[in-house]
Amino acid sequence: MKIELAESYGFCFGVKRAIKIAEDNKNSSTYGPLIHNSKEIERLEKDFKVGLTDDHRSFSSGDKAVIRTHGIPKNELSELKANNVNVVDATCPYVTKPQQICQEMSEQGYDIIIFGDEAHPEIKGVKSYATYGATVVTSPKELEDLKLKDKIALVAQTTRKVEDYLEVANYLIPRHKEVRVFNTICNATFENQEAVRKISKKADVMIIIGGKNSSNTKQLFSISHDNCKDSYHIEDENDLDFSWFDGKEFCGISAGASTPDWIIQNVVNAIEKNQQTKNS
Ligand code: SF4
Repeated sequence: MKIELAESYGFCFGVKRAIKIAEDNKNSSTYGPLIHNSKEIERLEKDFKVGLTDDHRSFSSGDKAVIRTHGIPKNELSELKANNVNVVDATCPYVTKPQQICQEMSEQGYDIIIFGDEAHPEIKGVKSYATYGATVVTSPKELEDLKLKDKIALVAQTTRKVEDYLEVANYLIPRHKEVRVFNTICNATFENQEAVRKISKKADVMIIIGGKNSSNTKQLFSISHDNCKDSYHIEDENDLDFSWFDGKEFCGISAGASTPDWIIQNVVNAIEKNQQTKNS
């Protein structure tokens, strides 16, 4: 069986940057998981003594708080600063962008629509920047009963599928006088999605590696599954079931933006080793 990695996969600019910031700030704590990959978070804790705190109120004056890549709500950031917590911001710049757009457009009188998952930390943060509130939707259907102004600004969660975002934009545009559509899907997401689309069309089994709560990994899996029904989302090599590869000729591999290379390599090695055993 041929094993091939997608042309673009794994660690993105924002995650690499956040990990470097965390490594440079030994003996600190992140507020919420820095990235959606538990193994990498364990490594940071073990090798760099970077802990994890889930409540911003547990930081005291003088503590160092590393802000996760997904960002945090505006009021929590203000509280941390007001309490003299030493804030080290590892929010990805691609996440800061929709935060700023929400604030500016809300203050200019636009109704803000956010396409994304309301429960996701990135969206909780982005929404908090809309000074006069925002509505979060996951499909055009959720817009049907809303009473919206004539002026609408639309942003997307950075990791969303572009096709799905266009459906929301296409619903709004003919129904309102002014719709400002901001492309807030990040480049890494575009590139990884395009690459997984390409490889999953020729593979007969696909392995997508990433945290189970990683939004961008779930989107990669969804694209892969559209093209290759034998697609599997795993966190690491321990989740592999080698029967998936029986009778297969081409295994494609991709990984979410917060999946470190060492986990990807472990998966590739495990599949290769299993193939060698089968062939011997
Ligand atoms: Fe930033 Fe995009 Fe990476 Fe998220 S996936 S951390 S938005 S570069």
